[in-house]
Amino acid sequence: MIRLSSLLCPPKCLFCRERLPFDTDLPFCKTCRDEWEKETEEVCGFCNKPVRECLCTTELMQKAGLRVLFKTAYYKAGRRTLPNRVLFRMKETSSARLYSFLGEEISPNIFSYLQTEKIKLDECLLAYAPRHRRAAARAGMDQAERLSKELSGHLGIPRCDVLIRKRGKNKAQKELDVGGRLQNAKNAFALTRRADLSGKTVLLVDDTVTTGATMVACAKLLKSAGAKRVLCVSITFDEVGRNPREAAFSTKPYA
Ligand SMILES: [Zn+2]
Ligand SMILES: [Zn+2]
Repeated sequence: MIRLSSLLCPPKCLFCRERLPFDTDLPFCKTCRDEWEKETEEVCGFCNKPVRECLCTTELMQKAGLRVLFKTAYYKAGRRTLPNRVLFRMKETSSARLYSFLGEEISPNIFSYLQTEKIKLDECLLAYAPRHRRAAARAGMDQAERLSKELSGHLGIPRCDVLIRKRGKNKAQKELDVGGRLQNAKNAFALTRRADLSGKTVLLVDDTVTTGATMVACAKLLKSAGAKRVLCVSITFDEVGRNPREAAFSTKPYA
């Protein structure tokens, strides 16, 4: 069905502004879609699976007992790849076309994992790592919250917004090394007062993972509230984490 709004204002590719068919639900044109597909097929150096099927986590996450990270593509620092641009757009738009597409991209992998591991959907909850308050206010949205809402719809798993961002001056993660990031993340998050996650499997959502410090700090809080298991979900994953040789140097700060 063609929507009236799309006749008045034809949809455009969010990445190259090319006009799209009136009835499209996709965020991008065929060329950009092909580029996205290619990126999601890149292979992980640890498990040899395409990144969209890979569950590998970072060294820091493994040490904290986090062994599952669902993702769709690699973030490549300093490049203008489509996944990098998707990550950037996620921070500034709550576009239903973009988020619905991302939800559809990542949900099948989550579903099949839960099925294989015999984890029932009604044992699961979705949580997200909240963005810095000032950044969220500036953008008028929180991309991890928006993504968790989308996933809740796709997976039929309820949300539990039990994590909060503490007030105060947390430094930007990208300026810190691994140790600094972990300490910074520990200081940045807290639980809401009545958080009871006893026996639950919590899917912890963020937009991207670099060292995994945010995931580790948030998962620790979720487990302290009773969560039996924490599975991580992000759209992109820093490509430093895809190659065993490079990962050996992962104690260095990431640019
Ligand atoms: Zn395009
Ligand atoms: Zn892998």
